[in-house]
Amino acid sequence: MSMSTKLLDELRNLVGSENLLHKPEDLLVYELDGTIDRALPEAVVFPANTEEVQGVVHACNTHEVPVTPRGAGTGLSGGAIPARQGVIVGTARMRRILNVDPLERTALVEPGAPNIQLSEIAAEHGLFYAPDPSSQKACTIGGNVAENAGGPHCLALGVTTNHVVGMEVVTASGELEWLGSYGPDSTGYDLRGLFIGSEGTLGIATKVAVRLLPIPETVVTLLAIFDDVEHASETVSAVIGAGLVPAALEMMDRVTLQAAEEGLRCGYPPNAGAVLLIELDGIEELVQEQVQEARAACNKHGATEIRTATEANERTQLWKGRKGAIGALGRIAPNYYLLDGVVPRSKLVETMGEVSRISQKYKFPVANVFHAGDGNLHPCLLFDERDEGSTAKVLEAGAEIMQVCVDAGGALTGEHGVGYEKNRFMPLLYSETDLENMRRVREIFGNSGTFNPCKVLPEGTGCGEMAHQKGALQAAGPEAYV
Ligand SMILES: Cc1cc2nc3c(=O)[nH]c(=O)nc-3n(C[C@H](O)[C@H](O)[C@H](O)COP(=O)(O)OP(=O)(O)OC[C@H]3O[C@@H](n4cnc5c(N)ncnc54)[C@H](O)[C@@H]3O)c2cc1C
Repeated sequence: MSMSTKLLDELRNLVGSENLLHKPEDLLVYELDGTIDRALPEAVVFPANTEEVQGVVHACNTHEVPVTPRGAGTGLSGGAIPARQGVIVGTARMRRILNVDPLERTALVEPGAPNIQLSEIAAEHGLFYAPDPSSQKACTIGGNVAENAGGPHCLALGVTTNHVVGMEVVTASGELEWLGSYGPDSTGYDLRGLFIGSEGTLGIATKVAVRLLPIPETVVTLLAIFDDVEHASETVSAVIGAGLVPAALEMMDRVTLQAAEEGLRCGYPPNAGAVLLIELDGIEELVQEQVQEARAACNKHGATEIRTATEANERTQLWKGRKGAIGALGRIAPNYYLLDGVVPRSKLVETMGEVSRISQKYKFPVANVFHAGDGNLHPCLLFDERDEGSTAKVLEAGAEIMQVCVDAGGALTGEHGVGYEKNRFMPLLYSETDLENMRRVREIFGNSGTFNPCKVLPEGTGCGEMAHQKGALQAAGPEAYV
C-alpha cells in the first residue's frame, strides 16, 4: 500500500509541512517502540491541538488509511508501531500542563506532557501525581492513559485509572468527546475507565484531567540486601502478610544490580544476590512504626544488611539505580526483551525459578527488576539481534515465560499492555465470547479496523507480515551499529 499524494497534501495543510514526515530516512525512528516488533509508517504527523488531531483522523478515515497514536514511544508491547503502516499521530507538540488547581487538587494536561513534568509542576503546590513509571522522564501522560501505566509507587496508591478523572478524546471515528468528569465523581457507565488501558485502539486522548495528592510528610526508603532472590521473595510475602502496604516494594537481582552500579554509581552492593527497595510514607509516627515492622520481616527472612535513607538526596540516589536499571542493562547486551507477567505473590519464588530455567534453556542471560509487591514480574532477556535467529529465539523464550505466568494463575500484563506483542496470547485467558465483546467495544468508538490495527486482540491477515519485518537497522548490517 502506498499513501496517496492527495492524503499527504491534506495532512500537510492540516499540520504544516514542518510537522509532517514522509521521507524514508525520517520515518526510520518511528518503526519501533521500546520492544522488539517493527513496522515502518508511511507518514508521521505532529498536530498542535485537538482540532488538528480531529482533522488528521477524519482525513485518514476518509482515505481508509490506518492511524496509530504515539506518545514518547517508550511502550513495551509494540502498541505504537504502525502494524498495517499508515499514519502515526505523534503528540510531541501537545505537551503543556494547562492548569494546576491546588484547592481541588487536580490538573489538566495535554497528552504529550512527560509524566515527570506534571509532578515537577505540582510540587510547587506541595502536590504530586502518583503513577510514576520508571520511564517517567520520557513517557507521556497520553501513553500512560492508553496503557493504564503503573510504577514503583503504585502499590499503595493505585495505577493510572485511579488518578485520571476524565479526558477529552478524539474517538476512532473522529468525534470529539469528554469521558468521565472534571471533578472527583461521574455518573452513568464508566467510559473513562473503558478508555484507560485501551492501548490507543478507541481514540486519541487530547486533554487529561488528573487527581493530585499531597506530598507525604515523612518518607523513608529501606534498601534490604539478600544473598538470593528466594529470600528477597519470601520477604515480600512477609511484609505484605504483616499488613503493611508500602508506598513501593521493588526487587532487583544480581545481574541488574551489577549493571546499575557500574552504569549509574548509585551505591548498590554489587555482590548481593538481590535487594528490596521498600518505601514507607505518611505521618511521622506511623512511618517509624512501619519501618520497624518492615525491618523485622527483612531480618527474619535473611537480610544480610538493611540501609535506611531518610534524606531526599539519599533516596533519590537509591531510586536512580532502580529507575535507570533497564538502560544500564545495555552494558551487558545491545538488545533486551522485557516481559511483563503477573503472578500471585505466593507464586513469586516458584515462577522466578521457572524464568531462570527458561533463560538457561535458551542461553539468554536474564535480569530481573520488578514491582515485587504487585507480583508484577519483569524478566529482561538480554540478547544481540545481530546473531542470526536470536530475535525469533528470544520471542519463543518469552512465550514460554508467559505460559508459566498464566499457569501460575497470573495474567499476561501488569502494566505494559498487550499491544502487538501479546495479542496472540489473549485466548489463553479469554473465551471467544469475551474477545467478541471486546471487539464490539471498539465498534462503539467507531473503530472499523483501521484505528491502531493488530493491537490487543488477535487479528487475522495483514498484521504479522508487517510487524515482524526485518528492522531497517538490522537490514543495514553491522556498519549500522556504532
Ligand atoms: C525503561 C523503561 C521503563 C518502564 N517502566 C514502566 C513502569 O514502571 N510502569 C509502566 O507502566 N510502564 C513502564 N514502561 C513502559 C512505558 O513507558 C509505558 O507503557 C508508558 O505509559 C508509555 O508511554 P509513551 O508516551 O511512551 O507511549 P507510546 O509508547 O508512544 O504508546 C503506548 C501506547 O499508547 C498509545 N497512545 C499514546 N499516546 C496516546 C494518546 N494520546 N491517546 C491514545 N493512545 C495513545 C499508543 O498508540 C500505544 O498503543 C517502561 C518503559 C521503559 C522503556
